[in-house]
Amino acid sequence: MSAIRSRPDSLVDLLRDMIAIKTVNARASGEAGTEGELAGYLEAVAGRAGLETRRLPVPGDLDNLLIMHESDAAYPWLLFVSHMDTVAVEGMTVDPFGGEIRDGRIHGRGACDTKATGAAALWSLMDYTESADQPNNLAILFSVDEEVGMTGAMHFVSHDLPRLGWTPTGVVIGEPTDLRPVTAHNGVMRWRIHTEGVSAHSSEPSAGRSAISMMVEVVRAIESRYIAKLEASHPLTGLAQCSINVIRGGTQVNIIPDHCEIDLDRRTVPGEEAGQVLPTVEKVLDELRRTNADLKVRQDEAFIVPALDPETNEAWSSYVRGALDRLGLPSDPVGAKYGTEASSFGQAGIAAVVLGPGSVAQAHTKDEWLEIDQLELASKVYLEIMRTRLPMPG
Ligand SMILES: [Zn+2]
Repeated sequence: MSAIRSRPDSLVDLLRDMIAIKTVNARASGEAGTEGELAGYLEAVAGRAGLETRRLPVPGDLDNLLIMHESDAAYPWLLFVSHMDTVAVEGMTVDPFGGEIRDGRIHGRGACDTKATGAAALWSLMDYTESADQPNNLAILFSVDEEVGMTGAMHFVSHDLPRLGWTPTGVVIGEPTDLRPVTAHNGVMRWRIHTEGVSAHSSEPSAGRSAISMMVEVVRAIESRYIAKLEASHPLTGLAQCSINVIRGGTQVNIIPDHCEIDLDRRTVPGEEAGQVLPTVEKVLDELRRTNADLKVRQDEAFIVPALDPETNEAWSSYVRGALDRLGLPSDPVGAKYGTEASSFGQAGIAAVVLGPGSVAQAHTKDEWLEIDQLELASKVYLEIMRTRLPMPG
């Protein structure tokens, strides 16, 4: 990494330096995570600008990096969040780490999702520290493992935030939203359902009980009696969704299978109670058990990322929208179908809005890119938010 400068000359250079450091999510690549290298680089840049930095360990993962600037202990705190990890780079048609500039666009993995938001936030913060008017205290969280487990943000909210001595009045989650304020998004739940049969040699199938046959029944029942009847919806994020997307079962062609499993994905809408999902599915399974005494089926616990409910961020989103208004940009609140780290904050009662340069349509693509104009505009928007006068924390 010797080619990387310790102090970039421009916002574009900062983003290109960040793209040059490979940070493919460890859980996605199966290799060791490398967000630590990017954290080291950002630490150096922030340190040169006189900002305070702190590494915050995440159990079983690499460290989150927190960058802070306190102007007055009595002032409100604002927090910007940008994840350091990216999705995989296999099959990309541009150099994933080249930061190549063509047609006013910067190319590379993370250019859009979401190193641009981190670069813009850090650049704006460096500008902010040089401005005469500093009505807020500022922090940027560079988080680990967003793309798979969201463990970095979750651990920050549950473990670090209560120990920092301040609570953010508002949080901006940096993800590509075309610089539109996303105030609501759906939640995600994932879990597994197993059926247990009895194995036997295929020359005598009646000696066994097929877990695959049981699962066929389970899938049919869930699709017709549960998924088809989902009706929860939210005006900003649409209908609740559920789908069965992975099935595994059997070991060998001449053995009656004693195990089969499916993986389900459920999208909850703001206001829906995630804790009610599995019990509702369990009722469907109970109906099956009543008609088939041999059926052995069980559900695992679910991995849950809650929805972002706009009722948790009303006041804060009006300030964010005010900043967009002052810059003459569209400020109507929008909803998203994907999940973000905003959920962790919302769940803890901390107002969070998702806002960042670039479109989610360019995220995770084989030629990921970001318009340089969007990047420059994002740093203006973020700086305007940083300068917003908020009520003093009570
Ligand atoms: Zn992202």
